[in-house]
Amino acid sequence: MIEVGDASEKILSAISALPSVRAPLAKSAGLVLSERVSAATTSPPWDNSSMDGYAVRSADIVLRKNAASDAPRLKVVATIAAGGFAPRPLGPGEAMRIMTGAPIPVGADSVVRIEDTDRGTDRVKINELRDLQKNIRRAGEDFSEGATLFDAGIEIGAPHLGVLASAGVREVSVHRRPRVGVISSGDELVELDDLTDQVKGLKIVSSNSWTLPALIRDAGAEAIDLGIASDDPASLREKLQMTEGCDLVITSAGVSVGDLDNARSVFAELGGELFFWKVRMRPGAPMAFGMLRGIPWLGFSGNPVSAMVSFEVFGRAVLRKMLGHVSLHRRALSVRLLEPVETAAPLTHFLRVIVTRGGDGVLEARLAGSQSSAVLSAMARANALLVVPAESRSNPAGSMLNALPLNDDLLMTDRFLTQ
Ligand code: AMP
Ligand code: MG
Repeated sequence: MIEVGDASEKILSAISALPSVRAPLAKSAGLVLSERVSAATTSPPWDNSSMDGYAVRSADIVLRKNAASDAPRLKVVATIAAGGFAPRPLGPGEAMRIMTGAPIPVGADSVVRIEDTDRGTDRVKINELRDLQKNIRRAGEDFSEGATLFDAGIEIGAPHLGVLASAGVREVSVHRRPRVGVISSGDELVELDDLTDQVKGLKIVSSNSWTLPALIRDAGAEAIDLGIASDDPASLREKLQMTEGCDLVITSAGVSVGDLDNARSVFAELGGELFFWKVRMRPGAPMAFGMLRGIPWLGFSGNPVSAMVSFEVFGRAVLRKMLGHVSLHRRALSVRLLEPVETAAPLTHFLRVIVTRGGDGVLEARLAGSQSSAVLSAMARANALLVVPAESRSNPAGSMLNALPLNDDLLMTDRFLTQ
């Protein structure tokens, strides 16, 4: 048996970021840049107005403050809409009506907002001088052509897409999105489509065929469901041969010590190299990691909760490393136990808990229900996995332990802008 931390290290040291590909911007969201990106254009491309108002020369309107009778009047010679350009430079004593985003005419150095004028169309009276030299967004104030926009390693999110689009970047170099083959195994399993056997009480639906692909997609990878292998070794062999082109294979079930647990032997037969089997954790102790024809293999226990916990503890980090991330792990939160927690064996336990914020601001954890590795509904209720160290078998209420969040539940609230 290998320790949880050592298992993670062993797995991750066999994993690299996937090769770089060129991706059109429309397909790049959620991927990680493999190269620095520079701007193909300047943004904004020209000095432009940040207000609806009048483009003026400040020299024309500098007057004594509070002298309303002396308010300057300028001749309105053009209107510049966003999308248009001034017909000519602005001359002395002149103003041009200008809309937000429209280019500033040559000669103007201020935009007086419309509220500070009489809104004149032939001549305009300027009532307020607070906007002298103001309301001009300078060309290149966001970025200039040739400037670095983003370094390698940055994940492309909504603002990045916007910056890249406004910089005229149509394609980026990113680490390829991992393709993960998912194989379930066991004679007792059927697909949801074959519900009749389940209804007759003969079979169970493969829930791992739903949970694992959903977790894989949630981690930013593509899941390829290769279906259910029976407990006949030939069936699993056939499925494992369908993994060509995958970057990772995740199997569930058949890695324990039962008579029909043949995942490891089939894997060995096909020439796979086993790195370890069995981790000092609960749930999910019977777990294998190896390499088959250059494709890493995570063999999870079939128990529905175990498979999900193993993915959270090991699988997510593998996919993040393949995607090109440096931060691979969810950050653990320090939580206070609302009830005593005892564990039955000297193994690192990952218990399904509901974490909430206590009145004093400290995060508090209570068990989400049955801790059986077969009770998936407790997993669905949980928002975190309480990490109980192997040496910490008896933990009274009030003890502080770490918890791994399972989603962003703790970042959400029903109240607007409160802590
Ligand atoms: P195994 O890992 O083959 O010993 O299976 C452990 C338990 O998980 C057994 O009760 C199986 O019926 C159950 N199991 C295995 N695979 C799945 C699956 N894909 N979906 C739901 N339960 C499963
Ligand atoms: Mg089985």
